[in-house]
Formats: sequence, structure tokens, C-alpha cells
Amino acid sequence: MRLIRVFPRRTKATPTDALARFGPPDLLDEADAVHVSVTFKDDKPKAERLAEQWGRIAPTQIGGVAYGDRSLEFIPGRYIKPGYTITSRGCPRQCWFCDVWKKWPTAHPLPIHDGWNVLDDNLLACPEWHVRAVFAMLQRQGRRVAFTGGLEAAALQDYQVDLLASLTPKPAMFWAYDPGDRLETLESAAQRMLAAGFTRESHRLRCYVLIGYPRDTFAAADHRLRDMLRIGLTPHAMLWAPDADLDSQRKYQPAPEWKRFQRQWVRPALIYTRAS
Ligand code: SF4
Repeated sequence: MRLIRVFPRRTKATPTDALARFGPPDLLDEADAVHVSVTFKDDKPKAERLAEQWGRIAPTQIGGVAYGDRSLEFIPGRYIKPGYTITSRGCPRQCWFCDVWKKWPTAHPLPIHDGWNVLDDNLLACPEWHVRAVFAMLQRQGRRVAFTGGLEAAALQDYQVDLLASLTPKPAMFWAYDPGDRLETLESAAQRMLAAGFTRESHRLRCYVLIGYPRDTFAAADHRLRDMLRIGLTPHAMLWAPDADLDSQRKYQPAPEWKRFQRQWVRPALIYTRAS
């Protein structure tokens, strides 16, 4: 079956193969089916226009994270580029700013497909047998692994420190410092990773820091970001965005200054130049 996938936004993870599209169909497009895949809720109006246009070519479905997709199926390369993999979905924590636990309130192991950029919601909350199997797959890849889905410091167990340190070359990983997280928990995770052979200078220990949420201030956000630097993690600011489907959140749209502030806390070279 000739399946065309249509993406309203192109990111680093968006597939770029011959059956991926980023706009309306052209005269030569033919398909048996079309899937419009939507990750960000802000893209829904554009995605719905695209679905209407592609509906003239073939039966068209619209879905993805933005539409609350609860599927536990992961098909490598279909909606994200080859190399990215999802080996589990779900999370036992209940962070107020996150939708994951509402869809899957525990970490569900999935069949493990090869890849080197791991996007799991909370891999470290998975059962040990699954985590070990994922690392066995990663060991086989022969290239630098990245954990860009975010790792939960509170879930980190000693055997997981050993597994992360056992990968060659050393992987890149993003921890998460979110509202309500204790600084001591991040500090303990950072110390254990540094003791296992990671270095601050390599910038492989990174940390998503959520900023700009309701009642956050620039001074408080700056403090949290500098705390990450101090404990040995390279911060990566993530700007909170209100859920476009929730009236209660829309009034808290972060001011434009937050975007400028965020940009200063994303690129390690810029962060370390300013902080020195
Ligand atoms: S730990 Fe991460 S994945 Fe789990 S609910 Fe919180 S933000 Fe979502």
C-alpha cells in the first residue's frame, strides 16, 4: 500500500523519505491512503486544512500526539525518522503540565526496535528486564546514543547508572528539572553520573528545565538554570506552552520576552560563554 504521511511542521525528527510531505498535494501525487501526523496542538488548524486537501487524493486520516493518540504501537520510520526509537510509553508520575500519564498511567514496555535516539516518556521507570534489553539493543548500534525523551532523576537506580556508563561512546542524555522536582534529586543523579565517568566539559549530561509557566519569574528561572550548571548538568530551557485545548491555560500564554530568555539557555556554547 502506498501510504503518504503529511506533516504540518518539519523538525529534526520528521521523516524526509520519498513518501513524506509537508504541504498540500501536487499534480503528480498518488496514494492509497494518507495520514496527517500532528505533534503540536498549535498545528491543528493547518493540519485540518491539509487533511481536506489530501482527502481529494486518497482516504485521509488525521492523528498523532496533538489529537491524544493513545496507540501503543510504534512503527520505526513512519512518523519519526529512522534512528529514533520508542521502546516504552507512559509514566507513573502525574506532573500537572504533562499529558503522558493521562494516556498511559504506567510505563508500558513495547517491542524493542533498533535506534540510537531514545524518545521514551520515562524509560527509567520501566521494569529492569526491559531496561536491560533496551541497552543490549543500544550496545549493538555502534554509534553515539542519545536519550532525548528525558530521564527522570528520581527514578534513577544504580544498575541504570552502570548501563548508561557502559555505552561506548558515552551517550548524550537529557535529565528533567520540572516544577516540584527537588534540587537534591537532580544533584544526586548528577553526582552519580560524574562518578561513573561522565564529565561536565563533554556536555553529555544535559537537563531540560521548564520555564515560563504560570507564576514563574525570570529571576526564579535564571536561578534554576544556574543551579543545573552548578551541579554539573548543562541546562536546556524548555518554554512552557498552554494547552490549546484548555480554556483555563490559554490566559497564561508566556510573554514574548520568555522566548528571548529561552534562546539564551539552549546552546551549550552560548550558555558557557555567558556563564563564565
Ligand atoms: S515525569 Fe515526565 S513523562 Fe512523567 S508525568 Fe512528569 S513530565 Fe510527564
